[in-house]
Amino acid sequence: MRRKLAAGNWKMNGTRADLSVLGDLAGAATEDGPEVLICPPATLLHPAATQALGTGIVIGAQTCHEAASGAYTGDISAPMVADAGATHVILGHSERREGYGETNADVANKVRAAWAADLTAIVCVGESLEDREGGTALAVISEQLAYSLPNGATGQRLVVAYEPIWAIGTGKVPSTAQIAEVHDALRAQLGDRFGAATGAAVRLLYGGSVKPDNAAEIFATSNVDGALVGGASLTAADFTPIIAAL
Ligand code: 13P
Repeated sequence: MRRKLAAGNWKMNGTRADLSVLGDLAGAATEDGPEVLICPPATLLHPAATQALGTGIVIGAQTCHEAASGAYTGDISAPMVADAGATHVILGHSERREGYGETNADVANKVRAAWAADLTAIVCVGESLEDREGGTALAVISEQLAYSLPNGATGQRLVVAYEPIWAIGTGKVPSTAQIAEVHDALRAQLGDRFGAATGAAVRLLYGGSVKPDNAAEIFATSNVDGALVGGASLTAADFTPIIAAL
């Protein structure tokens, strides 16, 4: 059985005062319930990890560099993320692919670095509106998944998040049939690559305008093991009912 995962991506939001959300969420993270992950900005990784101790909430970064250290002004490495107390890292988010030109090969290198630092990689894939309307969504997503995972990947310490770009921050959500089609295809592809048992153990998240009022319907969809939530993860008032719907 795959444990459900409610992951919050705070993006470039939050200062230390906002870590009170972790306290407000603590009751929502139970041993028998879904895993709760918060990915704050890098400045908050360490205080968040400290504050999350004993709550069951786990902390992740939103990206990392592919190198362990070096002359990369402004970047943070996977070992630094781990040293800050985080256990996860989001990689290949469309905002990184689009805004920073990250390619599938770049993402694969970062995933390799994340695993070397014992982090769980949350690898994001998702089509543009143009891909969706042009009928190439499944092909684009399949290629992203294939090449965003490094050679030698075993399927361990891996979560895959399907985030259609046109659904992020827009209030638009694919139909549950569209989500199921993608998630079923991702599951099959993971099975082909890692073997059925390992492929079946990888958690698949949906992301893009997940809100308290649509979470239950999305979570009832085939092969949806949780969500990667942006805006609605910033407050406990919104994120708590989403966790509860899992
Ligand atoms: P929203 O939930 O704000 O649409 O963001 C989704 C997302 O990009 C999470 O990584």
